[in-house]
Amino acid sequence: MNILLLGPQGSGKGTQARILCEKFNFFYFESGAYLRKMAESNPEIKKIMDEGGLVPDKEFTSYLTAYFDQQNLYDDIIFDGFPRTVDQYVFLRDWLSKKKVALDLVLVIKISNEEAIHRLSARRQDPETGKIYNLITDLPPDGIDVSKLVQRDDDKSEAIEKRLKIYREETGRLIDELRKETKVIEIDGERTIEAIAEDLEKIVRDFKNGN
Ligand code: AMP
Repeated sequence: MNILLLGPQGSGKGTQARILCEKFNFFYFESGAYLRKMAESNPEIKKIMDEGGLVPDKEFTSYLTAYFDQQNLYDDIIFDGFPRTVDQYVFLRDWLSKKKVALDLVLVIKISNEEAIHRLSARRQDPETGKIYNLITDLPPDGIDVSKLVQRDDDKSEAIEKRLKIYREETGRLIDELRKETKVIEIDGERTIEAIAEDLEKIVRDFKNGN
């Protein structure tokens, strides 16, 4: 089965996706990480991302399908961050259907704008390892010098507001569309990581058992 995980920036999608991957052996695809890699050699993409905008589909969707083709990977994927617009969904849906698979389940982790801003402004990255920490919810271990951690450009307040606006508008439209075609389940994301993980595990298990 393929899962699409949606939620505003800071909703904890990455953390939950990793937990689900460990439990069920899914492949985790995170579009933000994939595009950040592309941005290392493409200053135009980097600029769009730093400002919190969406990278135009034509810049990456064909590379994306090639990426999955190369690995012969079409099923048991958790999609995080892609698709996030109706156009991207239609593109992925049609491509998956040619491979005789589909997006089977959509999980939406809900948090308020205030909570998202609060969490993202505390997010820091280790410039050497690329590892992400959160000064509120996911403190770096002993031995990591907090003063050396940096804030990603797109986690600064102006970019955050832009990213959240795009999420509410574009992804909001996408969620309305998805409801017509597939099973969409919303989860309260303003709880502990463990409580959310427990709910998600049950939902996925029930889905796999045909409930
Ligand atoms: P994220 O960490 O998922 O918020 O992604 C970081 C940034 O990557 C976004 O602000 C966009 O600039 C870019 N990005 C990620 N996924 C997509 C997508 N599906 N379409 C366009 N841009 C994307």
